[in-house]
Amino acid sequence: MANAKQKQMDDIKQKILDDKVCPELAETATQLVFGDGNPEAELVFIGEAPGKNEDLQGIPFVGAAGKFLNEMLEMIGLKRSDIYITNIVKYRPPNNRDPLPEEKAAFMPYLESQLEVIQPKLTVTLGRHSLNCFLPDLQISHVHGQPKRYKDRVYLPLFHPAAALYNGAMRQTLIDDFALIPAIIEKIKLS
Ligand code: URA
Repeated sequence: MANAKQKQMDDIKQKILDDKVCPELAETATQLVFGDGNPEAELVFIGEAPGKNEDLQGIPFVGAAGKFLNEMLEMIGLKRSDIYITNIVKYRPPNNRDPLPEEKAAFMPYLESQLEVIQPKLTVTLGRHSLNCFLPDLQISHVHGQPKRYKDRVYLPLFHPAAALYNGAMRQTLIDDFALIPAIIEKIKLS
């Protein structure tokens, strides 16, 4: 079964390459940053787009934001190999600019396919770009830390660790919201 899911994920990755999604981004990026972790996971994290370190290593969340994320995972007793993590946009935008609406739209079907394969109990969106790709009417500042059920999936909107890293108040809010994850998953399993 584990191998079956991994094979399906490999097929989605290959399809992004075959379909030549966002060729301008592909041109300026070093490589596709598809996703990392366990396709059998109950918990999936979705960021915005790869940064410089991610682009160089081909793995999401390996820079400063990723280190902070790993620390928060450790606080709730999880490792990177217990979760799956990916981004909306899978090539680094030049100079770390925000991903464009058409770039996010181009990658959404592939992200949906990844979620179809994984079938997570909880999908954590990191930052407003990720939240608004799934729930466009919600504002991160209002709904962070509140699980939202929508079309057979439960989302947990969180602040982006890169935004919270050097902002004391937001950093503590993110840590507090993160600490809610185990209880939210338990509640979903009982529902
Ligand atoms: N920020 C993101 O949104 N994604 C990454 O992979 C790294 C930083």
